[in-house]
Amino acid sequence: MNKSSKLSLSIDRLPGVGDKLKQKLQRLGIEKVQDLLFLLPNRYIDRTHLTPIGALRPGQTALAQGNIELSQVKFGKRRSLLCRLSDGTGALQLRFFYFSKQQQAKLTRDALVRCWGTARRSGGILEMVHPEYQHIVPEQADVVEQTLTPVYPATEGLTQARLRRLTDQAVRSLANEAQRPLELLPEEIRRDFTLPDLLTALRYVHRPPPDADTEALLAGNHPAQQRLAFEELLAHHLSLLSFRRKIHRHSAAPLTLTAQRKRDFIRQLPFELTPAQTRVLKDLERDLAGHTPMLRLVQGDVGSGKTVLAALAALHAIDSGYQAAIMAPTELLAEQHYQNFSNWFSKLGVAVTLLTGKIKAADRKNRLRDFAGSTPVIAIGTHALFQEQVVFGRLGLIIVDEQHRFGVHQRLALLEKGAALATFPHQLIMTATPIPRTITMTVFADLDISVIDALPPGRLPVNTVVLANDKRPELIARIAEVCRQGRQVYWICTLIEESDAIQSQAATDTYDNLRTLLPDLRIGLIHGKMKSLEKDRVMTAYKAATIDLLVATTVIEVGVDVPAASLMVIENAERLGLSQLHQLRGRIGRGQERSDCILLYQPPLSDLAMTRLAIMRSTTDGFEIANKDMELRGPGEILGTRQSGLPELRVADLLRDAGLIPAVQRAARLIQEQYPDRVEALISRWLTDRQRYGNV
Ligand code: ADP
Ligand code: MG
Repeated sequence: MNKSSKLSLSIDRLPGVGDKLKQKLQRLGIEKVQDLLFLLPNRYIDRTHLTPIGALRPGQTALAQGNIELSQVKFGKRRSLLCRLSDGTGALQLRFFYFSKQQQAKLTRDALVRCWGTARRSGGILEMVHPEYQHIVPEQADVVEQTLTPVYPATEGLTQARLRRLTDQAVRSLANEAQRPLELLPEEIRRDFTLPDLLTALRYVHRPPPDADTEALLAGNHPAQQRLAFEELLAHHLSLLSFRRKIHRHSAAPLTLTAQRKRDFIRQLPFELTPAQTRVLKDLERDLAGHTPMLRLVQGDVGSGKTVLAALAALHAIDSGYQAAIMAPTELLAEQHYQNFSNWFSKLGVAVTLLTGKIKAADRKNRLRDFAGSTPVIAIGTHALFQEQVVFGRLGLIIVDEQHRFGVHQRLALLEKGAALATFPHQLIMTATPIPRTITMTVFADLDISVIDALPPGRLPVNTVVLANDKRPELIARIAEVCRQGRQVYWICTLIEESDAIQSQAATDTYDNLRTLLPDLRIGLIHGKMKSLEKDRVMTAYKAATIDLLVATTVIEVGVDVPAASLMVIENAERLGLSQLHQLRGRIGRGQERSDCILLYQPPLSDLAMTRLAIMRSTTDGFEIANKDMELRGPGEILGTRQSGLPELRVADLLRDAGLIPAVQRAARLIQEQYPDRVEALISRWLTDRQRYGNV
């Protein structure tokens, strides 16, 4: 076999790779031996030295070794095997809940055992629960790993040992790689940004040499890792740019509005547009009037007033003889938009239609007929809008609200509705996720960005209080008082459990409980398991202030608007992410009076939870909260990697590598202009088909 071509061989040509393994690897997008090289470790563990047990601290993950002094099976709440390990500097207990007879037989007094795990304190002594361990022969007692151990992303049915063997084979084939078809970054880019070459980088991250800069590798900012992160970000960037190019090759219908109609619309609003709204509106007007499809993201904190801008954009479509489709993430929100739009447009003779899952078949048929024809209509709906049966005859504008709730793919599915038309629809994406600019520019590199950077005037910042659960009786007494003064209250029930059914049950229980405790109040309940009609009825009553206290699940998290509500209680606040808390809290503080938010928690609080709640108390600024949240949790979780269809990055980390982004953008432009033939190879190396944006 010609060694130098081994990398381009199909994966099953490697010894030990059968059909089953091949299929598993294919699911990871690995077809050829060289693809294995890009299955990168996402972290390292340091097993290059033994930590004396006496120096071990709770919370520390380490390699320790000692002789077993005592081994016994304890029958407590759960049967467990306990082994006391000693190395002369201290003692460490190993605890196993699952163990075989053979394991037990070997973990006996005097056995020399090496273990890897996280120490914790348990009843006055240090222990590791289910550490990885191995028996050591005395001659090997001082022999430890020479290099950091790479840890590959967990993949169902593939053990770390197997992944290491596979990548070993691929890395070894690199030695014979005389020609360099693998290197896709042009020399000048590597020089300008001082990036090591690809083969060096790959070898280094897969198998760090003994003298490697451990600290840098563990932190993820070693030049070898940065080089790969750079290429990965570049690939994602190029993918979005080529998506944008594809769309811009289509032409769009210019959508315009007469000054008179604009005045008519604005005059009947109960408020004036803020300067921030006016500025963003200008961006929209300019884009909409053009012959290329608009691709714009409007970013604005909760309550900044994005909806009215969406309505104005939609009016441009209608007045130009086109349809507009608005997609909201929940039925509740779609219905609220429908009501707002119906109010705003009733005197302007504009047709507004709702399409959600609950619309009855006959109605639905009529509505679909309208959409399929050329009637200029504003269609408001949930994801029901992009089901296959829904066809638009004259779609001029697509608006996606609360983008963070949708995947990129859903957005694209709606775009495809317009792809068959003579002209391509304009696109407006709205999001309240206040992510930092550099990151926005990466994640939404296909979009132009406008920011509504100020809230409407007269909003008082919400006063936030953190309260332990045992203060509940006092809190409930205070609620009775507050409601008597005519204020309205949200009581939010949260659970980690994402299941609608369980959340709804918890809310129902709280509802029953509060009704017993507060018999004089008018209490309402809203949750995801209720029929839409029922939800409508409750929301309408709450808006009309015939409900004092509304018990709700996080279904109200997104976008719901009841300006008179001025007190919110959030249960189990310690379990929620900051951005979710911010979204929830954004439901109050919308009116003219002072609002209060009570974050109830169940003690004891972890340090992290305490930090999070303190942040919520100290600021109401969405950007600041998002930044902190990102430091604490990482951007993927905030933006909801799975939900938002964000790229699941292999080596790059949007927060850690934000500094690379300007360089990545410059490199992307250079490659597009001077090395266009490399674009496709870069994209397909780093993105799976599922992640590709460019299929429109
Ligand atoms: P979001 O940006 O979170 O979607 P909304 O569009 O729901 O915010 O607006 C929040 C509230 O602010 C609504 O009650 C809306 O009517 C009101 N609002 C919007 N623009 C203004 C403004 N310029 N002045 C006063 N109130 C406004
Ligand atoms: Mg909104």
